[in-house]
Amino acid sequence: MAVLIERGNPQDTPIEPDIALPCLRKDPAPPTIPRMSVPIHFRQVDLATGGRMFTRRHVLVANGSITTVSPTPIESPPGALVVDGPGILAQGFVDTHVHGRRGFDVMRPGDVAPLSLDLLAQGVTGFLPTVVAAPPDRLLAALSATCGDPRGARVLGIHAEGPFLSPDQPGMFPPDAFRDYDRALWHDMLATAVSPIRLMTVAAERLTPAQIDELSADGVTLSLGHTNATYAQASAAFDAGVTRVTHAYNAMPGFHHRAPGAVGALLDRGDIDAELILDGVHVARAPARILAATRTGGNIVLRPQPG
Ligand SMILES: [Zn+2]
Repeated sequence: MAVLIERGNPQDTPIEPDIALPCLRKDPAPPTIPRMSVPIHFRQVDLATGGRMFTRRHVLVANGSITTVSPTPIESPPGALVVDGPGILAQGFVDTHVHGRRGFDVMRPGDVAPLSLDLLAQGVTGFLPTVVAAPPDRLLAALSATCGDPRGARVLGIHAEGPFLSPDQPGMFPPDAFRDYDRALWHDMLATAVSPIRLMTVAAERLTPAQIDELSADGVTLSLGHTNATYAQASAAFDAGVTRVTHAYNAMPGFHHRAPGAVGALLDRGDIDAELILDGVHVARAPARILAATRTGGNIVLRPQPG
């Protein structure tokens, strides 16, 4: 799904996806990509594609694909929806870590729908509502209410940031609800979640490699975070199936040449994906560059907002 950002708020246009997928509800079939049945004619927009920006273009989109890009005006096909610039026409962003925005809180049942509309207006077309560690009744209530608005950014699954995290690295969360791996609670989470839990942030020292293997078998991608893990513990977790790190460098001890810790293990493993809060505050530029330079197969997942 492409989206026009900065101007021409998609919420203000009469665009409706052909297929509404507000949440995924245990459907084993892969989600169907909604296609716009009406051609869309964008006039005088800046088109971002292939790493380049083409300014003041006229763009025609039909059946979900760009069919025409022209520096000069083009004719609108019959029945086309016309959207005027200025604005940037770009691929939609996918946000894998979002707790809320502008007062909307994923932990508050009912907030994910308005949040999905707000995210789409910012250019995010798909996201993982991210629940945080909380007492089980509150956590399960949040997991049961992560449905978006069919007109908003699509819920692609859920990110569970906890609760198997280290109380020594709570970040912005109260650590009371952090706990050791609890299979019964995990099963309750899986059973209650209204969309599949796609991603889970765990502290390596809260799980054994066998338990990591068990969780991976349930189809969840595991991400190391809020952790005091030693280099050996973090490396063992990567070997056991953790493939990602949550907000690399933050909520984990810094790199020390005698105690390299989770950061050292990440820098030593170029195949691991690393989420990075690249807002100029959470991580300085040099460690961000070093992290990028050490990726040999793993990706950097940018996260503009903390939380
Ligand atoms: Zn966090």
